[in-house]
Amino acid sequence: MKPKEFEYLIDAINSLPSIGGKVAEKIAYFLINQDEKYLCEFINRIKQAKLKIKYCEQCNNFSYEKLCPICLNNERDNKKLLIVNNINELNKIEATGVFDGIYFVLNDEINVKTKKNINEKIIKKLVLLCKKKIFNEIIIATNFTINGEATNIFIKKLLSQILPNAIFYKLAIGLPINSALDYADDITLKAAIKNKIKV
Ligand SMILES: [Zn+2]
Repeated sequence: MKPKEFEYLIDAINSLPSIGGKVAEKIAYFLINQDEKYLCEFINRIKQAKLKIKYCEQCNNFSYEKLCPICLNNERDNKKLLIVNNINELNKIEATGVFDGIYFVLNDEINVKTKKNINEKIIKKLVLLCKKKIFNEIIIATNFTINGEATNIFIKKLLSQILPNAIFYKLAIGLPINSALDYADDITLKAAIKNKIKV
């Protein structure tokens, strides 16, 4: 029999994204075997992160100030907008160095099954940003899933009413670098042929 406190701990760990039952139990065992100092430091880091880290008022990126360093950077191209799902994706794209415009983090997507739309506050913030900046290039980088596609269509429709002259893009679907054609699934292969590039 496991003490109920231990079960509660597993439940809490299980609520974290990408953690399944076995892993949750393993982490729970690990944690209760650590000393007081380790656990206090661990809990303190979570508390400090929650307390100190805010979100950028313009793009929803992490920020200590009202605006994040990307939004504050005058050298960025203010006419280009890249809409991403989450901060993790923003950082990934930013690390590639290929995009020099500004971002907007959605932190939400349409759920086709439950008919849940994107949070109204987020939509308002995005609309306000587009009215203020008048972008001429907008890349909507939502997921390649049914929900992601629905979100993409919704955002494009919404923003093209505000910015009728802007050019809208979505990310190209294609084959991963260093991959063999043999292993590509049908949808990816079809998209890769459709998105062929001139050599
Ligand atoms: Zn920002």
